[in-house]
Amino acid sequence: MTNERLPVVVAGAGPTGLMCALALAREGVPVVVCEAEPSLTHDLRAGTFHPPTQEMMAPYGVTERMHEHGLQVRRWQIRSRRDALVAEFDLGLLSDVTPYPYRLHLEQHRLTPLLLDALRRQAGAEVHFGHRITAFEHRARSVLVEFESDGVPGKLEASYLVGADGGRSTIRKLLPVEFEGFTWPEQFLVVSTPYDLARHGFTMNAYVADALEWAAVFKMPDAGPPGLWRLAFPCSPGLPDDALLDARAVQARMQGFLPAGTEYEIRYQSIYRVHQRVASEWRHGRVLLAGDAAHLNNPLGGFGLNSGIHDAVNLADKLARVWHGKGGNELLDVYVHQRRSATIEQVQAMSIRNKRLLEERDPKVQRARMEELVATADDREEARAFLLESSMISGLKKSEAIG
Ligand SMILES: Cc1cc2nc3c(=O)[nH]c(=O)nc-3n(C[C@H](O)[C@H](O)[C@H](O)COP(=O)(O)OP(=O)(O)OC[C@H]3O[C@@H](n4cnc5c(N)ncnc54)[C@H](O)[C@@H]3O)c2cc1C
Repeated sequence: MTNERLPVVVAGAGPTGLMCALALAREGVPVVVCEAEPSLTHDLRAGTFHPPTQEMMAPYGVTERMHEHGLQVRRWQIRSRRDALVAEFDLGLLSDVTPYPYRLHLEQHRLTPLLLDALRRQAGAEVHFGHRITAFEHRARSVLVEFESDGVPGKLEASYLVGADGGRSTIRKLLPVEFEGFTWPEQFLVVSTPYDLARHGFTMNAYVADALEWAAVFKMPDAGPPGLWRLAFPCSPGLPDDALLDARAVQARMQGFLPAGTEYEIRYQSIYRVHQRVASEWRHGRVLLAGDAAHLNNPLGGFGLNSGIHDAVNLADKLARVWHGKGGNELLDVYVHQRRSATIEQVQAMSIRNKRLLEERDPKVQRARMEELVATADDREEARAFLLESSMISGLKKSEAIG
């Protein structure tokens, strides 16, 4: 077997790793996915898919299957705790530029089985659960990947290694790169309830501004109707997790947000730390980073998982060409330039701006910003430009122009 015939090894069967493997296999590149966990992870994480992400997954039949269960969210709102509705945006304004002029809401753990299923139908793709990648070593024309399975070490020779192993990426930590950026002091509390917020005028996605306690609202399909409303709130730094997750404290928070006149039924609650970080380099020889392994951002705007899919599709396209001898490693640097610039200039900038907008403490500044948003929503062309940006369409276009 020549080195060019060696498979690409992908670390991690999260959405980024599975999407990258699927796109590589579709291009005739043999691929081996090693996932540390014994099965797909089921924790509650991302759940909103922007139009370009739906477009990217469509050729694999994944988008169509997502629609069987997902919720189409055409309108979303910016609200304030004090004045209720501030502005409403209609993604239908983008129907001339995308076949999916809406956000699709679907839990991340309902997407990954669809990706895995599609991958398993592809020739030349293997997925190994319970295989934790522990180390790698560059060879002259390959990379030797070391893993551990049931405590037994093993080795795999790969043409390239893709580190799609999440925010705590082992692959990234083994590389001489920095994970540049910062961690927000406050944690985020995420609460899910079947209580129907639509009866209070909420669209299925809404961002609620408040100097002390902003909130982000997403309706998720759950196992089926009536679905679940998921709310994210900031938590005071310094309070222990137990106190933040105490049932009475969570109930009080929900009642403070919106008095329901009855006890909220709380289905899930969790707390997590939020980072804004980008790896200083995404390629080191035959090792590449993608998804959360390469970048992390706050969830305001729903960009994290979306940009992981964008990385995966972009990287697979270039890596397949290189693997087939239709381009040199400089093509892989184009992947890095395009995706790193989209991450820094769009995803990081927009997610930080969204958070600052919601939490602005100066009432005068907050009022001015809200008035600006009202004016944007009321002007068709401005609203369209705003939606092109917040749906990641203009950022992708800009980054794809980078050679
Ligand atoms: C509470 C929460 C809410 C979020 N909301 C949104 C949202 O609304 N919109 C959005 O776009 N994003 C959101 N995100 C972010 C989104 O969930 C992540 O961006 C997404 O999971 C990234 O996918 P990934 O495949 O890159 O990494 P992951 O999903 O973390 O997958 C990495 C995989 O690698 C495996 N792994 C780790 N180490 C190894 C190893 N050494 N060897 C082999 N396998 C390994 C892990 O087990 C895991 O399965 C949210 C995140 C959280 C935590």
